[in-house]
Amino acid sequence: MEEAKCPVCASRKFFVKDEEDEFEVHDFEIVGGEVVFQESGDPAEAPRLEDGTEAYCGRCSWHGAMERLTKGQ
Ligand SMILES: [Zn+2]
Repeated sequence: MEEAKCPVCASRKFFVKDEEDEFEVHDFEIVGGEVVFQESGDPAEAPRLEDGTEAYCGRCSWHGAMERLTKGQ
């Protein structure tokens, strides 16, 4: 399976916006198909990502649903 990456710039660094505060973002990287959050702190505080969660590329203006990254669509 092809490694998940941004379809535009091939970056593997993304972020999602906080559900309750859209100005708060959570950075993550996709490593071996798994989402790895970059922030330190309690992993239980990391946001839950659903297939439909909107992910934003950390390098370009691409954004799309998580399933497009993790399922290689
Ligand atoms: Zn990108």
